[in-house]
Amino acid sequence: MKSRPLLLAAVGLAILIGFPFVVANPYYIHLAQTIAIYAILLFGLDIVVGYTGQVSLGHAGLFGIGAYTAGVLYMHFHAPLLLTLLAGIGTTAAFGAILALPALRVTGPYLAMVTLAFGTIIQILINEVTDVTNGPMGITFSKPVLLGMVLDERAYYWVCSVLLVASLVVVHRLLRSHLGRAFEALRGSPIASDCMGVSVYRYKVYAFVISAGFAGLAGSLYAYSERYISPNTYNFELTVLFLLAIIMGGRKTRSGALLGATVIVMLPKLLDDLDLFRYVSVTLAALVAAGAAVQVARGKTTVARSAIPVIGSVALAVLSFVLTSMTDWRLSIFGLITLLVVYYLQDGIIGFVRQTLGWRGHGASDAAAAATLPPPASAVSTAVSQSATPAAQELVAADKVLMQFGGLKALNDVALHVARGTIHGLIGPNGSGKSTMMNVLTGIYVPTAGSIAFKGQSIVGRTSARIALAGIARTFQNVQLFGEMTALQNVLVGLHHTYRSNLLDVALHLPRYLREERAATARAYALLKFVGLEALAGEEARNLPYGKQRLLEIARALALNPELLLLDEPAAGLTAPDIKELVVIVRKIREHGITLILIEHHMDVVMSVCDVVTVLDFGQKIAEGTPAAVQANPQVIKAYLGGELEAPAAH
Ligand code: ADP
Ligand code: MG
Repeated sequence: MKSRPLLLAAVGLAILIGFPFVVANPYYIHLAQTIAIYAILLFGLDIVVGYTGQVSLGHAGLFGIGAYTAGVLYMHFHAPLLLTLLAGIGTTAAFGAILALPALRVTGPYLAMVTLAFGTIIQILINEVTDVTNGPMGITFSKPVLLGMVLDERAYYWVCSVLLVASLVVVHRLLRSHLGRAFEALRGSPIASDCMGVSVYRYKVYAFVISAGFAGLAGSLYAYSERYISPNTYNFELTVLFLLAIIMGGRKTRSGALLGATVIVMLPKLLDDLDLFRYVSVTLAALVAAGAAVQVARGKTTVARSAIPVIGSVALAVLSFVLTSMTDWRLSIFGLITLLVVYYLQDGIIGFVRQTLGWRGHGASDAAAAATLPPPASAVSTAVSQSATPAAQELVAADKVLMQFGGLKALNDVALHVARGTIHGLIGPNGSGKSTMMNVLTGIYVPTAGSIAFKGQSIVGRTSARIALAGIARTFQNVQLFGEMTALQNVLVGLHHTYRSNLLDVALHLPRYLREERAATARAYALLKFVGLEALAGEEARNLPYGKQRLLEIARALALNPELLLLDEPAAGLTAPDIKELVVIVRKIREHGITLILIEHHMDVVMSVCDVVTVLDFGQKIAEGTPAAVQANPQVIKAYLGGELEAPAAH
């Protein structure tokens, strides 16, 4: 099994290098160059679209900046090839930063809007600043020269191929590192990312800048490949084409980007030749039908499940005859294919092929393979590090906290003092302000008034990420896991703060990065073991049973190495045996010297583990004391009987 990727890589490399020997026609070699160049851009675009889940409508503009950086340097300064490529990357990345820094400050569709405007402005600028860019006339290049050698079509194809492979390796390594996990996490749950110390804003910008860098490299390569650039190339249609390529090929895969690039380069050529198009679509339909028949015969799928792709491809083949007799048919076919892909192949063509052939995605199989490795024994004992500071000291001191939403005072003059090393219960009827208190403590809301000190320092106005790194970790009332990531990767996001490696360490797999990754992985396994999830390390979080998801959230929070852990209704929705397990884990966490604030409706849990309990009702503190004292408090009983919940006295 392990040799398959290596074999594939070797075959791929052989095809890549050997292609111009087999196909000598310079026209096809040029097409292959274009595919390689587009693929480089798509690797980068997929980081933004596939991983962080943002939409960029400006990648054609960035591609243009790369091309014109090369063009301007070539035309005015006769700069050598390698220098212009580097300058293309740098300049475009800088433009990416200028775009992303303001646009990503706010959530929502701002990036799409800003990048859309940017694409248009770039085109206008290139047209207007004629002194620099030669305006609508464009810039013509002579054959590129590398280290004194004039490169013909074939030699330049190899240059593009080398850079394609280099980009592939860099992007692949990046996406599998802590940086890639940060990109994926912020898409899975922005709130949880911030609360794990992974600043959503910072990593969105980071992803966009890296993506822009690849667009710049692709753009400058493109300029030499075409040997002529003009402003009209870098238009909105090209941006849409890039996005289509990602969607068609399949997001979050490098093979998807390669396939997408091939499709957007080859399909228009294919559509130029009616007979060839008909021939290809009939062949495709026959192949899909044959593949489905084999799968059904081998019992790997049912007739019903394979019906859709078969019908789809046969319909496409039939349509190829109908449509090719119509005017404007090319556009219709392009639209139709896109529709088919979006509706039926939601993971793109690569995702579909993987599914039909029964291959698992790389990430999943790797994690599953890794899951069988036993974690180093030493790591288990240090899974949760001991907090050495003396007890009987105030860890949290919140006073006169007011949190107002319009006219509603969700927290009204609340004081909360939590002693180090204790388990502090926070109870109250639904809507009494418990979760709001937690959100205020973790920086998700900034209180309207009042003071909050953690270890004697005010945390009011600090970002969630900074508060998390200062030592406050949490779980969420509505589970906030990174669904598409494995259990192990979820915990690794919590361990993001243990990394110091930068992009270079990651791209070159320098010792620092490898050391940090090894240490974090061992630690993550130990944490999973701590909550009893080590056997599920390779499972995607969204596929875990609910109770396990809650435990995984706790493991991830512990990865922050917190001094204070906030649990928001950890037992909600859990079965009785799961609750027992949870109580054991909560006690174990406290034994490690971590202070806990526990919001819980299950009174038996609260009564058995809490040292102190604070009761909220309508945003106000109505009681505080030992569990027994609170349980007997008439005001508390009244609040609960008036509310919709079980009375604490009932247990
Ligand atoms: P609890 O966790 O105790 O059930 P919450 O803290 O979630 O209660 O909510 C307290 C009150 O504040 C509720 O009335 C809720 O509707 C309100 N609230 C919470 N968050 C917001 C918000 N972002 N905007 C407006 N109202 C909110
Ligand atoms: Mg709540």
